Amino acid sequence: MSKKLLWYSGGLKFSCSGCGSCCGGGPGYVWVTQTEIDRLAAKFGISAELFEKLFVWSVNNGRRSLKEYPNGDCVLLDEKTRKCKFYEERPIQCKTWPFWKQNISKKTFWDAIAEHCPGCNCGRLYTLEEIEEQRDASNI
Ligand code: SF4
Ligand code: SF4
Repeated sequence: MSKKLLWYSGGLKFSCSGCGSCCGGGPGYVWVTQTEIDRLAAKFGISAELFEKLFVWSVNNGRRSLKEYPNGDCVLLDEKTRKCKFYEERPIQCKTWPFWKQNISKKTFWDAIAEHCPGCNCGRLYTLEEIEEQRDASNI
């Protein structure tokens, strides 16, 4: 498909306000790779094995996800500040939000997530190339 036909070919604005709502709420998965587990564990100051035991669970398809609290908060979300405790080391899924394939596949999907993410359509303009780079890097 020609890039001219993409609805977001003129770019999309996004700047995270840090509200934390995408890190909590309803149940979901935050996929983590072994490399990400190793990095998070090192930052936490514990072994990857212990980090995985404490904070990661295996989903039936063999993929691994960060655990969440009963209220839906990600296990790495600070309850008081509503910020990620390991923002710099957060998984690629979190780093590439909101430019996931599904989210940008249709403008109606983008509009739907923008209703819950105040960072969408605000602040920095991401170019088409930047959006596609994030889309391709995402594991969603
Ligand atoms: S919902 Fe959007 S603005 Fe709020 S923390 Fe998540 S990405 Fe940032
Ligand atoms: S790892 Fe951090 S950024 Fe990702 S969902 Fe959990 S708290 Fe949010």
